Amino acid sequence: MSSDSQLPLSSRPKEIRRVETADFHGLLLQWTDGASTSVSAEELRRNCPCASCQEQRGDSSHSKPLGGKSSLLRVVSATVEESLRMDSIWGIGNYAIGIRWGDGHETGIYPFSLLRELSQTSSVK
Ligand SMILES: [Zn+2]
Repeated sequence: MSSDSQLPLSSRPKEIRRVETADFHGLLLQWTDGASTSVSAEELRRNCPCASCQEQRGDSSHSKPLGGKSSLLRVVSATVEESLRMDSIWGIGNYAIGIRWGDGHETGIYPFSLLRELSQTSSVK
């Protein structure tokens, strides 16, 4: 009998490693299906799934008229270097990781499915 429900996501990371080298800055992921992928910090930050980043990117599902009430959110000025530095990474339940960035941003929760989507088959070892 199948104890697991058939989620579209059949794989989860069994190991997530933070890598910071001259060539690559991001995460290496080993998946339970044997795949090994990598995703750059830049890609992760650019696709931060938290509400405020989505709003800044303008991809909230309900479109708002431009020029309306201005958002209370302000873009925090941080250097690119800061905003792309991963200060810490932690697991959230059994489905996601959280990342705290160098500029203090930590509201993004990255479900494994998103990580898999953003990452590419790794050539980095
Ligand atoms: Zn965010």
